[in-house]
Amino acid sequence: MAQQKNSKYKILITDDSEMNRAILIDMLGEEYEFLEAENGRQAVELLEQHSTELSLVLLDIVMPEMDGFGVLQVMNQKQWIDDVPVIMISAESGSSHVERAYKLGVTDFVGRPFDAMIVHRRVVNTIMLYAKQKKLIGLVTNQIYEKEQHSALMIDILSHIVEFRNGESGLHVLHVRTLTEMFLRHLIQKSDRYSISRADVVAISTASALHDIGKIVIPDNIINKPGRLTDEEFTIMKSHALTGAEMLANLPFHKNEPLIQVAYDICRWHHERWDGRGYPDGLKGDDIPISAQIVALADVYDALTSVRVYKPPFPHEKAVQMILNGECGVFNPLLLECLIEISADIPEHLGSTSTLQVNREDIQSIAEEMLRHEELSASGRTLQLLEHERMKYSFFAAMTQEIQFEFTVSPPMLTLNTWGAEKLGLAETVPDPMNHLDSPGMMNSEECRRLADALHATTPEHPVITCDTLVPYPDGPRWCRIISRAMWSTDEPPRYTGVIGKAVDIHESRMKLNSLEEQASHDAMTGLLNHKYAKQHILQRLEARQSSHYALAIVDLDHFKNANDTYGHLFGDRVLMFIADTLRANVRGGDIAARVGGDEFLLFVEYSASPELPIQRIYNCLSGKTYEQFPISLSMGVATTQVVGTDYETLFHAADSALYSVKRGGRGSCRFYTNETMEQTPSSISPIDSDQSQSGTAGKESTT
Ligand code: GH3
Ligand code: MG
Repeated sequence: MAQQKNSKYKILITDDSEMNRAILIDMLGEEYEFLEAENGRQAVELLEQHSTELSLVLLDIVMPEMDGFGVLQVMNQKQWIDDVPVIMISAESGSSHVERAYKLGVTDFVGRPFDAMIVHRRVVNTIMLYAKQKKLIGLVTNQIYEKEQHSALMIDILSHIVEFRNGESGLHVLHVRTLTEMFLRHLIQKSDRYSISRADVVAISTASALHDIGKIVIPDNIINKPGRLTDEEFTIMKSHALTGAEMLANLPFHKNEPLIQVAYDICRWHHERWDGRGYPDGLKGDDIPISAQIVALADVYDALTSVRVYKPPFPHEKAVQMILNGECGVFNPLLLECLIEISADIPEHLGSTSTLQVNREDIQSIAEEMLRHEELSASGRTLQLLEHERMKYSFFAAMTQEIQFEFTVSPPMLTLNTWGAEKLGLAETVPDPMNHLDSPGMMNSEECRRLADALHATTPEHPVITCDTLVPYPDGPRWCRIISRAMWSTDEPPRYTGVIGKAVDIHESRMKLNSLEEQASHDAMTGLLNHKYAKQHILQRLEARQSSHYALAIVDLDHFKNANDTYGHLFGDRVLMFIADTLRANVRGGDIAARVGGDEFLLFVEYSASPELPIQRIYNCLSGKTYEQFPISLSMGVATTQVVGTDYETLFHAADSALYSVKRGGRGSCRFYTNETMEQTPSSISPIDSDQSQSGTAGKESTT
């Protein structure tokens, strides 16, 4: 299947009804290019011409001339089914049909009448999945190809060194390799007695070049002796088989590589014979690895047809006859059949032998084979993991009682969790949601545009945004906090593919304090500690750690009534929640933030040298900010244990009177309580400015 960079994915639609074809084409849209067949025979013809360019086949079952199953059978015979995914679309959705279709390798089965969205989605998914698989095969092919090329090159050099020493032309290893490959290919076509994969074919033929490496240790005078070897010399000569195998077995590296293991078998046993009368181990029949049996046959054939110091070359026919007559030892009868059957092709093939080469097509097949074996189990695992994730997700989705949603751009579809769909009075999937905005349960178009703009403005690095918006519940709009994550594709440049997120009813979610104890100690709306319990915590802290310095601050919003009056009480609530969240986020671990009541908050902060730094930091995180349209202004009064001691009531009242003095002085700043009377407070009070020096110290009234 080709992903054409500038052209579209090609889909073959096979259906005898012209109308059905037209519906599918219309539904899938202009993103794709279509070929149409009105019966199975036409589909096969089109596949014959276009199987390499097709990205998908949509296949009907019942058709004249050849039905859908017939097409699948041909696709299996011709192995197109490995490369082109098929989705069957049929009204015949009985389980026997479905099962038969899956058995014949379809990727998916869609029953008629179909939901356009479902078909669209499955088509997209299938095409993407196959495109990924193809890409993977390409990557693996390149990797193996490179590795095989390197091995082949090194083996080429090595075997030529050995041959050079033997006084041979250098063609022997090449011939043995070619013959080995020819025998292997013929053997796997002819019989499945030996399970030989395409990867084995490459490994065995490559390793065949190493069959004689043991000869490197045989003395020159024996190797190149023109006459007959003495018994003693022959014994030495025969040792090359074991020596070669040992050399490989003793490799300090790579000895576990499959190629080296195959080479070991070949080196050691390429002089064994079927009847057990070969050497070095006298193995018999199929105790001899098939790789070694084949190399033995190839070796003998080439030795017979080549010049040697001790003999002239025999012609091809004579050599074959001598082998068949058993003049060079007994061979596997099945291999002899192969020899007879490929005999006519041998001279031509050997003539064209040039150098060791790794065939890219072979490697591609190997990559596919590997992926089919290994990746299939991997994809089985992936499916299991996905299923596990899905279960986990739906469990949590059911428990959280929040609206969870996913929106995909293509196909345009909104998916909601069950709880959320119920709350909003919507179906769990809403196709084409953009066309349903402003209707019950759906966002209004303006809010939606605002959210969409914000999402488009995110980046793959920072895809998450939070915004508060009105969500139309069936009983009226409610304020929800929407936390959403834009989904960006991994392409370059990244494409915006949709969004996942959740919406929480701001007011409802605040009430969910879990235990009774939590309910008693916390303020229901803000989730902060209430005053009573904050006081208990503070008392414990003051008693336990007398020597520490603490600051107690009371914060009151300025003109907060305006928020209520202008924007409504619910808006006011959200402001208070925002203040509470910000305070909570900005006090350190051991410090305390609580709601005293109304728009009044309490902070209890431990400090080491000066209280001003932490207080100022907290003050600055809110003062001058706005919540939506409402400008936030704070008044803050602070009392420290260094100034007023560790009695809680005294601390609280001191802070309160400092606050009172801020309010009276015009609001919008922070003041520390001093031992001098608050009446002497200078009237000019300004908001804390982070640039100002920290002048406020114990015992002296100060504003910052
Ligand atoms: P000042 O600057 O003097 O502090 O004026 P203010 O408008 O902030 O008024 P004040 O602090 O005296 O009163 C707080 C107001 O906050 C009174 C009440 O209407 C409002 N309020 C108290 N509790 C809540 C609440 O839970 N939600 C909302 N929305 N408003 C509250
Ligand atoms: Mg107030």
